[in-house]
Amino acid sequence: MSSIYNSTLAASTYGETLTNIGDAFPSYNAIDKLWAAWYTWMQNDVLATGLMIFVIHEFFYFGRCVPWLIIDCIPYFHKYKIQQGKVNSWKDQWQCTSAVLLSHFTVELPQIWVFHPICSYFGMAYDTPLPNFLTMFYQIALFFCMEDTWHYWNHRLMHYGPFYKYIHKQHHLYSAPFGLAAEYASPIEVMVLGLGTVGSPILWCALTHNLHIFTCYLWIVLRLFQAVDAHSGYEFPWSLHHFLPFWAGADHHDDHHRYFIGNYASSFRWWDFLLDTEAGPKAKADRATREKNKAAAKLQAEISGASKKTE
Ligand SMILES: [Zn+2]
Ligand SMILES: [Zn+2]
Repeated sequence: MSSIYNSTLAASTYGETLTNIGDAFPSYNAIDKLWAAWYTWMQNDVLATGLMIFVIHEFFYFGRCVPWLIIDCIPYFHKYKIQQGKVNSWKDQWQCTSAVLLSHFTVELPQIWVFHPICSYFGMAYDTPLPNFLTMFYQIALFFCMEDTWHYWNHRLMHYGPFYKYIHKQHHLYSAPFGLAAEYASPIEVMVLGLGTVGSPILWCALTHNLHIFTCYLWIVLRLFQAVDAHSGYEFPWSLHHFLPFWAGADHHDDHHRYFIGNYASSFRWWDFLLDTEAGPKAKADRATREKNKAAAKLQAEISGASKKTE
């Protein structure tokens, strides 16, 4: 057991420890105090970080799925369902939930013991006070871009023959996705695509030595929200991509599940747009029109070239 937090402030209960921290550091804000009290009370930083990340993951993943389950039960919202008439039964949802839970407890729970040592190795801070809002904002924005790039290329690779057959096919079981299906994937896929989420802050920290674990938690929570929402199956007039046109959202990822090819990115639309891998009949028709126009222009150029030669 070891901690960088002062053991003399640790009491037998978390509440008492929190009071001690409040008395010792009156200038701390509420979150700083809660954070410092947690590590001080635990007096085992590896376990404190590991338990925290596991609980955060479970709480925010399943917590974010609850509103979507409620929306499914309210007829008013059904007009916003992207794939009209495709209703996933409670049996589907339960099977998916149990598979996701099994993966969390068998694949992710053991990682509790390595998360803190890896973060510490790369110099991630976990002391108090916590970083300011602006620092967290720019770092998380950067992680979204880094993860999106990692996700685009690796997800696209997973649609290649054997990778699809043996790894990624599981995630495509539901052609009309729902929130809980966000993490329904093979353990290899969880690790490969998860590396974009965990590896982005680690790479940033290795390069800059400027990152706090709290920022890392916040990033993981926002990334979980993004993944659950992208699988929600609902598109509203108030969905984020109407205000941030480059944001992907359910409107983008639902088409990936529906048509199986295209729309490989996670958070943003720019990779699919730039590399011409957008999914859906409209994107297909636009692509066909572009190719037709290109062929017509080429033919026109050949005809005018040939007529110049004969002149
Ligand atoms: Zn896919
Ligand atoms: Zn998906």
